Amino acid sequence: MKFESKLPNVGTTIFTIMSQLATDHKAINLGQGFPDFSPDDVLLDLVTKAMKDGHNQYPPMAGVPALRQQISLKVQELYGHKYDPNTEITVTSGASEALMAGILAFVKTGDEVIVIEPFYDLYIPVIELVGGKPVIVPMQAPTSETPRYQVDWQRIRDAITAKTRMLILNFPHNPTGINLTEEDLDSLESIVQDTGILLLSDEVYEHLVYDGQAHQSVARRPLLADHSIVVSSFGKTYSATGWKIGYCCAPAAISAEIRKVHQFNVFTVNSPMQVALASYMENKDAYLRLPAFYQQKRDRLLNGLAKSKFIPMHSEGTFFLMADYSQISSLPEAEFSRWLTTEKGIGVIPVSAFYKQPDAPESNHNLIRFCFAKRDETLDTAIEKLAAI
Ligand code: PMP
Ligand code: GLN
Repeated sequence: MKFESKLPNVGTTIFTIMSQLATDHKAINLGQGFPDFSPDDVLLDLVTKAMKDGHNQYPPMAGVPALRQQISLKVQELYGHKYDPNTEITVTSGASEALMAGILAFVKTGDEVIVIEPFYDLYIPVIELVGGKPVIVPMQAPTSETPRYQVDWQRIRDAITAKTRMLILNFPHNPTGINLTEEDLDSLESIVQDTGILLLSDEVYEHLVYDGQAHQSVARRPLLADHSIVVSSFGKTYSATGWKIGYCCAPAAISAEIRKVHQFNVFTVNSPMQVALASYMENKDAYLRLPAFYQQKRDRLLNGLAKSKFIPMHSEGTFFLMADYSQISSLPEAEFSRWLTTEKGIGVIPVSAFYKQPDAPESNHNLIRFCFAKRDETLDTAIEKLAAI
């Protein structure tokens, strides 16, 4: 049958490709972002209990009320904004579904959506599916004076036109590991004040911030919260990426539009996991302990790489860190990543995959992304192999 693809430029995601390559070559997979350890037994037992207690049929469309209540309490406690669990919080099939619902519900044909590059791979194809136009604004690349990626808010402001419908944010940022600062929120606030733009804020790594920093959620500022869809994921927070449960918080009128999409996309999300998560969230320590837990892993990899020819970049948040390999090879990032996986047994992700044109020289900075959400033994074995290169 002949047909015209709606996404002619989309192939299989880099995460799937690199994980498959790692499996095929029995490499240690530090590529795709997922822990190689299990969620807390307490949480697993709560899921079993929920199933045995009979939570096996459709839960309410917007999510189990007790879970929405817990999300509301957590967000209020951490960021100071109260979302009404009945009308402003929706449990979704991973953060992915929330992001997709946010774009489908608000972006119309011809609308522009600003995306900051490098970016997570989901945003642009979804914008294109609805006939929207992605407007890509690059981050400032690191220099010797500012050795960190940075958002240039003036460039974002300059990119806003009468057609701009949405600005997509993702902090802590995948793949650079940068966090927003209070000054960033000030700049954002002034842009929103002047333009009234809608923010889709992908905050899936909200609990993974290091060095004593606090996560600067857009929910901290009333004006920003009023203009935002804030998205998070239990997969990242509770080491259960395969469960595919996330949520989004947004003012009631915005949430109502998101739910119109959600109800016909998946209708609702599996009930036993939601019931279990609602009980588990009562223990705040399970997310409060994450910065210390992951910071130790970040430093383990950082210190390990210091003994190698890779030059690691600092990671302020997420469970990723990037490293420069220019002392080892001048191959483009995708080729170097394949070589590292197939010949040296370490699966990684080329950072160029987070650019609109991964093969272009401008997208290649000799950087690969490592995921450090791994057992210490896994990290140590990987470090040994990396140091030997
Ligand atoms: N956003 C970002 C920035 C991510 O890294 C991921 C990766 N998992 C997602 C969204 C998707 O999250 P989920 O698996 O909960 O759909
Ligand atoms: N978010 C994960 C990453 O950046 C991957 C999720 C996926 O494979 N879609 O590695």
